Amino acid sequence: MVFNQKQLKIMGYMMSVSFLFIHIVMFSMFYKNHVMPMVYVNIFSIIFYALMPILVYKDMLMQFSLFIMIEVDVHMFLAIIFTGWEAGFQITLVGMLILAFYSEYTGRSQKIKYLKTWPVGLCILVTYITAYVLQHFYPPQYKLSEGTLFFLHIFWGIVVFFIVIAVLQNFVMLIVRSTENLERLMSHDELTGLPNRYYISAYIDHILKDNTINDCWVAIIDIDDFKKVNDTYGHNCGDYVITRIAEIISMSHEYEPCRWGGEEFILIGRKKSGIENVEKLMNMLREAIEKENFIYEGTKLNVTITIGIAEHASELSVESWIDRADEKLYIGKQSGKNKVVL
Ligand code: GH3
Ligand code: MG
Ligand code: MG
Repeated sequence: MVFNQKQLKIMGYMMSVSFLFIHIVMFSMFYKNHVMPMVYVNIFSIIFYALMPILVYKDMLMQFSLFIMIEVDVHMFLAIIFTGWEAGFQITLVGMLILAFYSEYTGRSQKIKYLKTWPVGLCILVTYITAYVLQHFYPPQYKLSEGTLFFLHIFWGIVVFFIVIAVLQNFVMLIVRSTENLERLMSHDELTGLPNRYYISAYIDHILKDNTINDCWVAIIDIDDFKKVNDTYGHNCGDYVITRIAEIISMSHEYEPCRWGGEEFILIGRKKSGIENVEKLMNMLREAIEKENFIYEGTKLNVTITIGIAEHASELSVESWIDRADEKLYIGKQSGKNKVVL
């Protein structure tokens, strides 16, 4: 999920407390193993994380991320130098890198200042390689006990893998959700929420592919004298009428509805029996709209629609099929409106 500013701050507080707790554990572990330089480093880190909530409180989230990255980088570098590669502190750098990605993403999506991951990643890489090379050529001065090593590997394993799993799983969900949102935005009309032309052409491609287009019918609906509605009651009233008609059209599952543009809708359905039943269905829709109480700001409006229907025929291209329905609609308009023409 993407966090808002308040949730980010709560996360910042929680992170400071968790890191403070981790350093108290590290402090006692190093103290028990008499690794005094790391005891002092941990005292510094404990004070550091006790003060971090001040940055969160002051909304300095970028500085908060930057200081934590530096603290972890330096801290882990020293831990590797003093206790060697087998103590396993290097794994925390991987966790840090993953958190850096998340921090960049959150900063970008919240439109606040953020740290770019690639320089952070390069620093982490340099730390990793330098620490390895140094401890290889200059063997560490301190050795942790078997019990401590056992505990450390399990502890960091859990912490780092938990971070990796949580962050990456969240990224997967974010990508899936934003793709779904984009697809919905692209394929649906904003005013009515109905599928748009883009959606219906994908639907037509689908019925062409599965070779069922010959069983299909198309109907074009146009609101009668809609200009008058706009001119008399205003554009918002026109929008209300379009939206209400879209709702009525969507109530049936006999066809795929679409807002074709302006005050026109297109329906594509599959014939279950003769085309006369489609004509009946369209007449029911026409009557439902004729009888509907359109009330806008206390004024009752009479709204009617005209519908042109065309069956698909094997010799017809998709364009001429739709044109045929359009011609029927034109005939309906010419012969008095508020009718269904087959
Ligand atoms: P006819 O009975 O012949 O269809 O007459 P008409 O007045 O409906 O004619 P026409 O199709 O030319 O008018 C459509 C009008 O619909 C013109 C345009 O301003 C209006 N319109 C198109 N899209 C929208 C919209 O999203 N909202 C509103 N309020 N009006 C729209
Ligand atoms: Mg029109
Ligand atoms: Mg019209």
